[in-house]
Amino acid sequence: MKVPLLDLQKQYNSIRDEVVSAALEVFETQYFIGGPNVEEFERKIADYCGCRYAVGVSSGSDALILSLMVAGIGQGDSVITTPYTFFATAGAIARVGAKPVFVDIDEDTYNIDPNKIRAYISGCPDEERSHLKAIIPVHLYGQCADMEPILSIAKEYGLVVIEDAAQAIGAEYRFSDGSVKRAGTMGDYGCFSFYPTKNLGAFGEGGLITCNDEALNKMLRIYRNHGDVKRYYHDFIGGNFRLDALQAVILKIKLKYLDKWTDGRIYNASSYKTLFEEKNVNDIRLPFQKEERHIYHQYVINAGERRDSLKDYLQKNEIGCEVYYPVSLHEQKCFSYLGYKSDDFPVSVKASKTSLAIPVYPELKKVEQEYIVDSVSNFFKKN
Ligand SMILES: *Cc1c(COP(=O)(O)O)cnc(C)c1O
Repeated sequence: MKVPLLDLQKQYNSIRDEVVSAALEVFETQYFIGGPNVEEFERKIADYCGCRYAVGVSSGSDALILSLMVAGIGQGDSVITTPYTFFATAGAIARVGAKPVFVDIDEDTYNIDPNKIRAYISGCPDEERSHLKAIIPVHLYGQCADMEPILSIAKEYGLVVIEDAAQAIGAEYRFSDGSVKRAGTMGDYGCFSFYPTKNLGAFGEGGLITCNDEALNKMLRIYRNHGDVKRYYHDFIGGNFRLDALQAVILKIKLKYLDKWTDGRIYNASSYKTLFEEKNVNDIRLPFQKEERHIYHQYVINAGERRDSLKDYLQKNEIGCEVYYPVSLHEQKCFSYLGYKSDDFPVSVKASKTSLAIPVYPELKKVEQEYIVDSVSNFFKKN
């Protein structure tokens, strides 16, 4: 049986007519950049996330860069983030001229560990601390980082919080007072990606920034369009960070189905738990899930030291699987100038050697899941 890691064709087949006619309508108007379709999509996403403003942009990476620019972060500043994430998170910090400062992750959730953020800042000489301007927590695999302590540290030290919610649209976090908020609405800025393989994927590139502050919303829109305050009058140096109308109409249609698709992912995650328990597979650690809504952008198991051979075995059995991510960012060649040592972030390094994502997309069938679980089980019986 052949099971891909993700099957976008199935999703497309289910919405083809709707998407094609909406795209044709855009072609007929010949109005491609910004405009009413983008504005309508922005309003719908703001509602979906539960925040006041949403600003459509050209990609998730650009959402991060634009947020940092509007926050005034650049040369001489440093920004705390996780070493265990997609490259763009730290890449954006470097792109605006600032310095990425890595803080290790929590072993269970793979998200940045607030205790380690606090420990880093407390142990930081005054001179270094004075350069700290922001924290970028990432809601990895679709589960929110532990935001309550992160927000309180940020408040204490006057740091901006930019959430990297690229993998977490619709994920929820519960505060100790019982209130629940969605990914991207807790910090100052929330950055989303509509890269085709994300849970809400465009037919090309796209991204978005959420915020609750009217002044920030205004500045994000100005910077998105080369910093012009009115046509051809530039008070700031922004860039071309605009979202296409074509992507906006497609995303608007897909947004209607997002909860149904997310429920499918959540259902599949819970089926895995049952199936792995039935098969008595004790050699892997299943994803750790708090009671809050995890949207399972990825279903990531921890296979310990046998991860690479399990990966080979599954691929030989035509099961799609992938390592997110094989290299902790502090070990990337391009970041060698930061001067980190390999063992500076042991939890992140360990995760890069033990984690493995297996299929969890909503269209995945029960028999396919059983085949995956059987294959994992057989591997550990033989090895
Ligand atoms: C996908 C992703 C991004 C970048 O989004 P693009 O739209 O591909 O630029 C940033 N951060 C994380 C965590 C991501 O998963």
